[in-house]
Amino acid sequence: MKVIECHNVSYLYPNGLNAINGIDFSIEENETLGIIGPNGAGKTTLFLALCGIIPFEGEITICNTKLTKSNTQDLRKNLGFVFQNPDDQLFMPTVYEDIAFGPINLGFSKDEVDCCVKKALRNIGLSDFEDRITHHLSFGEKKRVALATVLSMSPKILLLDEPTSELDPWAKNQFIDLISKIKGTKIIASHDLQMIIDLCDKIMLLNKGKILEITENTKDIKELYSKFNL
Ligand code: ADP
Repeated sequence: MKVIECHNVSYLYPNGLNAINGIDFSIEENETLGIIGPNGAGKTTLFLALCGIIPFEGEITICNTKLTKSNTQDLRKNLGFVFQNPDDQLFMPTVYEDIAFGPINLGFSKDEVDCCVKKALRNIGLSDFEDRITHHLSFGEKKRVALATVLSMSPKILLLDEPTSELDPWAKNQFIDLISKIKGTKIIASHDLQMIIDLCDKIMLLNKGKILEITENTKDIKELYSKFNL
């Protein structure tokens, strides 16, 4: 089953910049898609469109339902968007409250919320971090807690924007290991080509808002870059 289908999706920022332009692709359930491309290629903008955060043109279908203004809130429950910068995602005083925020908003009972938080913390290997002050955490710990804030809502599709950026080699390997163990559909936007090769089934090369190529993860990515003179 296709969980995401994009047809001719475009978005113009208010300053007139065409950040994504005629994007067409689909992704099957449980597939991992890597999005690569230079800075400014449109990777983050595409994520914002998939979450219905920006008023894109064209058609996006999530889990067989066309994304519209009126169903954005509902369809967004299928998507867990992990931002590049965890400080943009974490805003509550404690780790527990940050991870509980999503499930509380979904209307879960206190016991259900507690269960979701504990499970998410176990999944990121930080079970004893419940009462830690979020802004006292290391950057690597913040990245993992940011991931837990979406895992606690069990989204069908995980969107990871530059998951390994600014992590030291140890924290990076740990985070990649975490991502590899998460089940479900994943889209990973990154400059970290080795991680993309290691984790993804398919690779999309984006440049100046357009898809230059989508390929199975069999090709040498460097070859792909040089083919388009990037
Ligand atoms: P990437 O994630 O691949 O680096 P982005 O989606 O962040 O690319 O950006 C795509 C293009 O849109 C870039 O040229 C960027 O400068 C521009 N852009 C991003 N955000 C805004 C904004 N809020 N207003 C105007 N232009 C923007």
